[in-house]
Amino acid sequence: MSFSLRTFCGSVKVEHVGRNVQLCGWVDAYRDHGGLIFIHLRDRSGIVQIVFNPEITPREICEKASSLRAEYCVSVEGAVKKRLAGAENPNIETGQVEVVVGRMTILAESDPLPFAISDKAMVAGAEKAGSESVSEELRLQYRYLDIRRPAMHNNLLLRHKIFQCVRRFLDERGFVEVETPVLTMSTPEGARDYLVPSRVHPGNFYALPQSPQLFKQLLMIGGLERYFQMARCFRDEDLRPNRQPEFTQLDLEASFIDEEFLYDLIEELTVQMFALGGISLSRPFPRMTYAEAMDTTGSDRPDLRFGLRFVDVTDVFADTNYSIFRQILKRGGCIKGINIKGQSEGLSKNVLQNEYAKEIAPSFGAKGMTWMRAEGGKLESNIVQFFSEAELAALWKRFDVQDGDVLIMVADPSYAIVTSALGQLRLHLANRLGLIPEDLFCPLWVTEFPLFEATEEGGVTSSHHPFTAPDRTDFDPKNAEELLGLRSRAYDLVMNGEELGGGSIRINSRDLQRKIFSALGLSEEDMREKFGFFLTAFDYGAPPHGGLALGMDRVVSMILKTPSIRDVIAFPKNRSAGCPLTGAPSVVKQEQLAELGLLNLGGKEVLPGAAEKENLLDRVSWVSRIGIDPAERSVMEEVLSQAEALAGIAGKEAGNEEPIRSVLPASHRTRPGLDAKRSELAETGKLLQSAPAVKGNYFKVASILE
Ligand code: ASP
Repeated sequence: MSFSLRTFCGSVKVEHVGRNVQLCGWVDAYRDHGGLIFIHLRDRSGIVQIVFNPEITPREICEKASSLRAEYCVSVEGAVKKRLAGAENPNIETGQVEVVVGRMTILAESDPLPFAISDKAMVAGAEKAGSESVSEELRLQYRYLDIRRPAMHNNLLLRHKIFQCVRRFLDERGFVEVETPVLTMSTPEGARDYLVPSRVHPGNFYALPQSPQLFKQLLMIGGLERYFQMARCFRDEDLRPNRQPEFTQLDLEASFIDEEFLYDLIEELTVQMFALGGISLSRPFPRMTYAEAMDTTGSDRPDLRFGLRFVDVTDVFADTNYSIFRQILKRGGCIKGINIKGQSEGLSKNVLQNEYAKEIAPSFGAKGMTWMRAEGGKLESNIVQFFSEAELAALWKRFDVQDGDVLIMVADPSYAIVTSALGQLRLHLANRLGLIPEDLFCPLWVTEFPLFEATEEGGVTSSHHPFTAPDRTDFDPKNAEELLGLRSRAYDLVMNGEELGGGSIRINSRDLQRKIFSALGLSEEDMREKFGFFLTAFDYGAPPHGGLALGMDRVVSMILKTPSIRDVIAFPKNRSAGCPLTGAPSVVKQEQLAELGLLNLGGKEVLPGAAEKENLLDRVSWVSRIGIDPAERSVMEEVLSQAEALAGIAGKEAGNEEPIRSVLPASHRTRPGLDAKRSELAETGKLLQSAPAVKGNYFKVASILE
């Protein structure tokens, strides 16, 4: 059978009826109707039903067919037939036809599968198999099988289309795709580096790039004018959901441009990328300064799919008799609030006081939360009696209140605490009350970030990176207060509360770049050692330039609405930065370490974390970067020793050769003699009474837990 004559399974249609076709693919599903065998044959293009009919198909082929199992790889030849009326299958695109097999070759057999791949039922109306309930760890361990699932195919296909769109779009606008080194020097993007030891230069290390920042700027100094790259970046950050240690950025840079050029370019590109997922975005994208974003949403990546903007009411309480507010204002504090329009039904006094004021707001860092409900033209709460008529009337007007509205307010001497706590309350309430429309996409440029942030040691550090141009150049690099007042020419592209990317107009003056390094506390020697080559390049006519990077995994995941970015990466790491498929990272042989000069690191100095190895609790604390309070030590030690004992039972200590995955043998069991019964608390709704957010019979967990 020649592969060159192959027809794709998904393309067999009514027009082919009467023709002979050759198909290749995998056995997706299987049905034996007493001698008549039906198979769903699947290749990348889709599924077609093939039939082994003893009246037509040679006997030895029918016999072979009865040995077929899920995911056998086969090629067949046969005649396309229209299905009998009523036997069509609307679950597959080729459901009007079937192929009656004449010849078959089994190309490769398959072992029983660790999880089902098929997700198309063979009969109209039947339930599909699917693998929604399969654990992600198992999916990642057998990623090649997971990729056989049409859903994963679609994800990778759309990712490919989006990448092609980017390449075509930028090529049409004169951008040149250039690869920059992966074995390189450290680049400052604020995370830890992954280091690669050099065998040729023992004791020396390459760093994997956190971004191609320095190289793309050098390409501008090299006169390339417009550069882009689908760059793999590596950041050894603390583990967080939806982060990957290696990820792909669309990295670009251009010379002789300003912010407007980049806004225009990236908006048009974003519109085109999202259109591939059937999402239409309108331009121009709105813009908001960092100050306004913090002031009205408490976030530097505001989610604009819903309102709940902050209203400042500090001045309303300037002469208040309410002592808590008076104390706070005396200490230079502020008071901000949100009007949750028409939600008094969903936010009872009990919920506001016992959940939000007592539990939720404090968990977001607020010392308290004031609430009021508008009823019968008046504001009501447990503390309204402490406010004057004038104050209540001013609140009514400032918040534009109507009956049925609920006000919440946070007051604190610290602006940062007010905005951060209220910002988290804003998101919590929007989720709980179902105020976030599912299919809405709200892009936003956030601009004018502070150039620096304060460090605990009283110095400053770059908010973006040290190559970002400041809004003015006449500052004193030794004056931390002045430095903290500088704004940057940086911009972030935000969508639905997520940062899709960011960049800045860069410094192109050697003197200004040195001044910024010195503001960051770098001595002449530090500058030479870390950035000597970079600063030297600025001695040779650096053009004005700027750029940006978009996190492509996040962009694709948002367009495809996948629950995790891991669903749009072919071979991602799991949540613990490991690869269940290959087992990376793994230990290496002593000889390899010796060859790399890593057995003797040269010094007698103790390596970080070495002291903590002595005690298990200290070790866990050091590895997880979670401090242990002396008061909780004994409890933690107890818990840890229980966990250790449990791990022992599951591991080799129980006398098993291989660690077991479950303490009990896995089996399906139903408890005998008991009818399924719903709890009374579930019937009355009490069960979910304290849940932060409820949908139907379930309570929702914060999205950070995925
Ligand atoms: N290098 C920056 C980053 O990776 C992006 C940029 O400034 O272009 O975040």
